[in-house]
Amino acid sequence: MKIHEYQAKQLFKDYGINVPNSVLCEKKEDIDACIEQIGTPCVIKAQVHSGARGKSGGVKIADNYDSAIEAAHKILGMELIFKQAGIKFVNKILIEEEVNIKKEIYLCVTFDRNCEEIVLIISKEGGMDIEEVSQLYPEKIFRVPIKDFFNSNAVLNSLELGEEITEKLSEIIILLYKLVIEKDALQVEINPLAITVDDNLVALDAKIVFDDNALYKHNDIMLLKDEAEENPYELKAQKLGLNYVKLKGRIGCMVNGAGLAMTTMDIIKYAGKKAANFLDVGGGASSEKIEQAFKLLVSDKDVSAIFINIFGGILRCDYLAEGINNAARTLNIELPIIIRMEGTNKEQGISILNNSGLKFKIVQDLNEAIEVIRKI
Ligand code: GDP
Ligand code: MN
Repeated sequence: MKIHEYQAKQLFKDYGINVPNSVLCEKKEDIDACIEQIGTPCVIKAQVHSGARGKSGGVKIADNYDSAIEAAHKILGMELIFKQAGIKFVNKILIEEEVNIKKEIYLCVTFDRNCEEIVLIISKEGGMDIEEVSQLYPEKIFRVPIKDFFNSNAVLNSLELGEEITEKLSEIIILLYKLVIEKDALQVEINPLAITVDDNLVALDAKIVFDDNALYKHNDIMLLKDEAEENPYELKAQKLGLNYVKLKGRIGCMVNGAGLAMTTMDIIKYAGKKAANFLDVGGGASSEKIEQAFKLLVSDKDVSAIFINIFGGILRCDYLAEGINNAARTLNIELPIIIRMEGTNKEQGISILNNSGLKFKIVQDLNEAIEVIRKI
């Protein structure tokens, strides 16, 4: 789960990391008072779950009161377009005192799944062009297991920032690590961490990603979820207790069991198509749950065909058939639906579907499924 910059900065503050004074503004009529509170020069920042706000017009530095008011009115309510995150509507802005930057550091503590370690990523070339730096000058970005940082001064010393700054930087890294461990974060990033003209370190930006699977332990973090930022289909699925991930393809799939769901996505790919989602309805899904899962699939406008691949072990095939039947009856579906079922009460399931009067293509096995999907 991601959170907003203003929320991440509050957490930083709680942990003792310097952040600029700021105030959150959600209504146009509050803009004047917010800017008066912070004073000028100030920075107006769109609060959306995306990086690269600076480059897309979502961050403006204003030198005086009038330009601050103008920038705030422009950014609050605007639509920002991002390469990665798509279109984001700005519901909230952060109005922040301006900091005089001498140098911008990139700092990140994150999980590296390849080496199965928490790693520290750090660069003296922080700021808005960090992506270009990583492509053109990868040697300027240091990536080391966090234990190397704890074991030796070599990593920080190699940055040659001077004793005082290095000491402060070291403290911040320790605090970020503490935050990662205590709050089950997958990533904490500060870009830029400003070295100010008077040699203080201030986090000008803040990004935190939490581990969804550990959220149940952190009620305080769970409260920070902004539902407007979540994928609406994934949000719906979460509420229904389904394991669902939205993907970029066109074949919606419904499967029971994560392993079978992975296999099913492989099959779709093998047939030359792409899955629109991962959906595991779970082992013992009821027909009501199947019905809801099916409705969720067809509500996704990207889905052009549905492949249902069920192994009836704990889940009975007749429950599955009833659920699909009930959903399809109320929905008036035009999409091709391919079903492969195997296992407990398969015959009853097939007969329910055959008697439903709806158009399902029931395939005998996975080979036939591949042939049918290939021709869609
Ligand atoms: P991002 O583009 O979404 O990563 O947004 P950031 O919060 O990083 O802001 C973009 C850029 O604005 C930063 O890289 C800084 O260069 C600049 N910026 C942000 N806050 C301040 C500030 O207080 N003073 C100055 N001079 N620049 C700032
Ligand atoms: Mn940034």
